[in-house]
Amino acid sequence: MEVFYHSTRSGEAQVKASQAILKGLSEDGGLFVPDHIPALDKDIKELAEMDYRQVAYEVMKLYLTDFTEEELKGCIDRAYDSKFDTEEIVPMAEAAGAYYLELFHGPTIAFKDMALSILPHLMITSARKNGVKNEIVILTATSGDTGKAALAGFADVEGTRIIVFYPKNGVSPIQEKQMVTQKGANTLVVGIHGNFDDAQTGVKKLFSDKELASEMAGKGYQFSSANSINIGRLVPQICYYVYAYGRLLKEGRIAEGEQVNVVVPTGNFGNILAAFYAKNMGLPIGKLICASNENKVLYDFFSTGTYDRNREFVLTASPSMDILISSNLERLIYRIAGNEPERTAKLMAALNGEGRYDITEEMKAALSDFYGNYATEAETEAEIGRLYEECGYVIDTHTAVASAVYQKYRKETGDEAKTIIASTASPYKFTRSVMNAIDAEHDAKGDFELVDGLSKLSGVRIPDAIEEIRTAPVLHDRQCEVDEMKNVVREFLHL
Ligand SMILES: *Cc1c(COP(=O)(O)O)cnc(C)c1O
Repeated sequence: MEVFYHSTRSGEAQVKASQAILKGLSEDGGLFVPDHIPALDKDIKELAEMDYRQVAYEVMKLYLTDFTEEELKGCIDRAYDSKFDTEEIVPMAEAAGAYYLELFHGPTIAFKDMALSILPHLMITSARKNGVKNEIVILTATSGDTGKAALAGFADVEGTRIIVFYPKNGVSPIQEKQMVTQKGANTLVVGIHGNFDDAQTGVKKLFSDKELASEMAGKGYQFSSANSINIGRLVPQICYYVYAYGRLLKEGRIAEGEQVNVVVPTGNFGNILAAFYAKNMGLPIGKLICASNENKVLYDFFSTGTYDRNREFVLTASPSMDILISSNLERLIYRIAGNEPERTAKLMAALNGEGRYDITEEMKAALSDFYGNYATEAETEAEIGRLYEECGYVIDTHTAVASAVYQKYRKETGDEAKTIIASTASPYKFTRSVMNAIDAEHDAKGDFELVDGLSKLSGVRIPDAIEEIRTAPVLHDRQCEVDEMKNVVREFLHL
């Protein structure tokens, strides 16, 4: 059955998947949602026998219904290939009684590669299908990982350009080095003087700037988004939950139909929303455990029913989760508002205006699949140390937030169901925090001294992504104020 997409803020205009991918965000500022969530059409036992690419096809074909089999398989094959440093694409490690689903074996060693290595291919295919002649300009705000993953995905992809804005003082040194050394004549990386929310708000403004859009159209350009609001990012993320469940089943760790819990370190709410979609497709998932760092807007939301971004923004050791506006939550709000765009639009207008909104008791009751909690900086560090001491397994700071929240959940509820923890970054991306957590006495100072120290302690090979930037020259040193972002775009495109 064909799936159409419409905005969370108005039900009227229906578009096909390829059109939703091209647009990124709906014109009314809403996010595209499928008109229904398709059910898995293969038995989970059958899926358990498939490799990652095959599972990805079986899941994605249900959402991207206007792609031909050949088109979709072509995109999948070009995305999940030897760019990943393991044949399995997403291996799973068992440590201290939980399954860590390692989503960081792609080119930039963070989970955003899972979606961003396929998005450029989905986008180019979508453009071709819709007769688009313009060059696609990807505009992205990043808290660190999206930027590099998007740059790696789009660099030198014909018919595209990519502009990345990141908070100059809000990403890790390794993250920054990864971005500013990006090659590709179609890439631009800019550090803004502000935090991630400033960058994201600035980018959203540019997207809805009609004057800029017409200037661009005149020169043969159009914007699209690689941010996690694009359904071309959301859909590929559903696949690894299905794959992980299949693997546990195949290895006899769970029985058919047995429910597993999923823990996700959350920022923009994309990854955990994908798990929620997987559950609604029929995958036996029990609780969706939403883990936050000290920017615990989501924890407060799940416990009180009030979403309130009016608070101090905290810079933590898990910067990709330092977010006060979780954009993808809008898709969940839409659902618990009974799929009513008017109600969703009202709440989002309140978020835009007063920076907060309250949901009704009835909506809150519809959130029972979710459990939210958070980990402090000290708890996060202690969790990295605990896991290393207990089993020699080293996790990064984001994964540690999830792991610490999982411990809280277990203690609080006594729920011992098998649990998958989304492991979203390689510890090599956050070496300073990780080294401090596993070896209080280390005297490594420089970033690469830390890398070498971590390699010694963990026994895990240094990823190529890190080796490469050791000596790579800085190719991007542009900085700007938040209100200069529009001019930066104009300059880059010679408007
Ligand atoms: C982006 C990111 C997250 C948060 O994922 P969302 O889909 O935005 O909730 C968590 N961990 C890492 C390492 C990330 O890069």
